[in-house]
Amino acid sequence: MVLFITGTCNRKCYYCPLSENRKNKDVIYANERKINSIDEAIEEAEICGSKGVGITGGNPILKIDRTCKYLKALKDHFGKDFHAHLYTTLEITEEHLQKLKEAGLDEIRLHPRMENLKNEDKTENKNNKNNKIENKKELELNKLIEKLTLCKKYINKVGVEIPAIPNMDDEISLIIKKINEIPVDFINLNELEYSETNYNNLLEKGFNEKNDYSSRMEGSQETALNAINRAKKHILDENNNLAIKMHYCPSTLKDSVQMKNRLINRAKNVAKEYELITDEGLLIKGIVKYNELELGTDESNVEANIENNPFVQFLQYNELELGIDYEINICKSEIYLNPILLEEIIDYLKDNEDNAELENEFGEFRAYISEYYPTVDKLEVQRTPLVTKKPKLNLKRRKKNLK
Ligand code: SF4
Repeated sequence: MVLFITGTCNRKCYYCPLSENRKNKDVIYANERKINSIDEAIEEAEICGSKGVGITGGNPILKIDRTCKYLKALKDHFGKDFHAHLYTTLEITEEHLQKLKEAGLDEIRLHPRMENLKNEDKTENKNNKNNKIENKKELELNKLIEKLTLCKKYINKVGVEIPAIPNMDDEISLIIKKINEIPVDFINLNELEYSETNYNNLLEKGFNEKNDYSSRMEGSQETALNAINRAKKHILDENNNLAIKMHYCPSTLKDSVQMKNRLINRAKNVAKEYELITDEGLLIKGIVKYNELELGTDESNVEANIENNPFVQFLQYNELELGIDYEINICKSEIYLNPILLEEIIDYLKDNEDNAELENEFGEFRAYISEYYPTVDKLEVQRTPLVTKKPKLNLKRRKKNLK
């Protein structure tokens, strides 16, 4: 589970991808769900079948007590094997680390200021400016080493996580060389990607989109792979193997694989008996929609409200059980059922549409197949109408058992 513990942050990275509704807002999200309590975080982890938590933000150490409260509660609830890692900046202190250790943190990932690590501009003769840049770079690198060393005293696994900024191959190689001297456990290079909030900043810096069907930035993957290849030649242990664990995370992998796995786990836990789960982790259900108030107005007395509804009678006749095989939403005048079953019913109706015996017993209704996210907001991504004409069912002809 990704626990976004706060959107507040002490930095203003030009590549920060946080969305408008999270950036600099003190909000908490467990995966895509906005939450207000530890209980909701535990519930979300349970629903998604999470094996661990990645605590992120904003900067979690700006809300260190909240971070530790959530972390400890998750560890207490799921046990010590529930792996917890946290992303933060070089502002981390010994006091923060003591608290995080006590709360049970397993792994920490530090993120230096990439802007401060940028090499001098070789194309122009700006000596003063370039001296300042070199100083900034040295200070940032020293601070990174100092904070990583401090983290090693308290946290079991310590690493660095940075965006692979195009053309920063030399700088990234230097970071790898320096941190390997401590040594640290790993470095993660994330492909740079644009979002609604960083897009203009990235263009102003001279970066381009990689293509028009993803949010990847041109050159980022090449920089990451180049840094890894250089390390394979120069950062070696006594057996001539790569001395530091390096991992490149392409944005497509981050987005699609991690998100898909979360959705599939969530879908498995929240799917109703009558719903189907797609390979992408979306839920599919059939919807029969009557005109407003046609199924009644009183949600508390569902059975009485639907007693005389012919579609429901039809389902009951076929021994389908309310609450298991189908559900009724009185407020929306909708009946939910298995999408394949609904298609069969609609086909049956269409096949018999011209039969003179068909009566207008079922009233007017529309039928859809709805595909939606298994998230709290149940965001619908597609609604496919099954019929264009108003179908009419004949009670006398629906002896066919559709189960
Ligand atoms: S440290 Fe992270 S959250 Fe803060 S501005 Fe930079 S990228 Fe955004």
